[in-house]
Amino acid sequence: RAKSDGRNICRFFERAMDARVTERRQLELDLRKALAAQEFEVYYQPVVDARSEAITACEALLRWHHPERGMVPPAEFIPLAEEFGLIVPLGTWVLRTACAQATTWPDGIKVAVNLSAAQFKSRTLAHTVVAVLAETGLAPNRLELEITESVLLADSEATLAILHHLRSLGVRIAMDDFGTGYSSLSYLRAFPFDRIKIDRSFVRELGEAEGCLAIVKAVAMLGASLGMATTAEGVETEAQMHKVREQGCTEAQGYYVSPPRPAHIIAELLRPRIAVEA
Ligand code: C2E
Ligand code: MG
Ligand code: MG
Ligand code: MG
Repeated sequence: RAKSDGRNICRFFERAMDARVTERRQLELDLRKALAAQEFEVYYQPVVDARSEAITACEALLRWHHPERGMVPPAEFIPLAEEFGLIVPLGTWVLRTACAQATTWPDGIKVAVNLSAAQFKSRTLAHTVVAVLAETGLAPNRLELEITESVLLADSEATLAILHHLRSLGVRIAMDDFGTGYSSLSYLRAFPFDRIKIDRSFVRELGEAEGCLAIVKAVAMLGASLGMATTAEGVETEAQMHKVREQGCTEAQGYYVSPPRPAHIIAELLRPRIAVEA
């Protein structure tokens, strides 16, 4: 009896696994078609100066409108795209789209683009960035590339060389999701980032957890003494906005200011307001 139970359990898991495998196969096939089918869209989320609350940059955030599943969040499909070797063409598409879009914005507004580790491994990244800047005519100092710890974990010597190369072009480099990894501090020593983005897990608990206030304050001070700007991510309330400003963050980003939005809405937001005379 125990034996047949065991077999049933095995069969149950096998079937569940089969379903997962089929599901992933299907998503892979869908992903392969999605770029050509123009199912991807780049949304933009404003980043504001912590004091004036004026927009300083917009972060490009990829969206996938799946024909049957609707909007699939990047946390779900980006890891798959990485695994299937699709992130390089997809990442290049995001970069090109975002840089072209940014040329339509006022000159002072930067665009931030997220990069994945696989884009560094492909060894064509610096070349791609140079080509996209030339093609779109975007000034290099208006482009900021965001990387997370996972990028530096893999093959850090080669990665650092690419980062230095990109920096020499005038492109800015930001450390994303700061404080969530195991050795965030050692990465700050390894590369002179232009910006630290404080992960939203610290910002979320700013009113409640005493420790979060101290951490946000310490990172803002660290940034200031290293000559790096500090963006607080995930600012959702006026109280949080007030706190991150008070603790010395130079910029803020989050639903309090605006969620990520389609390009045409951002363009509207950035259009210089012409004073109407009474
Ligand atoms: P990230 O780069 O840290 O982006 C910030 C994420 O926080 C975005 O999620 C954004 O929508 C969300 N967010 C912004 N403000 C708030 C807030 O006030 N509250 C809350 N709860 N969330 C907020 P999203 O768009 O789902 O993207 C998730 C992650 O996927 C990004 O994290 C980034 O790591 C990755 N990603 C997005 N687009 C790309 C891309 O084009 N290439 C690569 N490699 N990764 C991307
Ligand atoms: Mg980011
Ligand atoms: Mg982040
Ligand atoms: Mg993130």
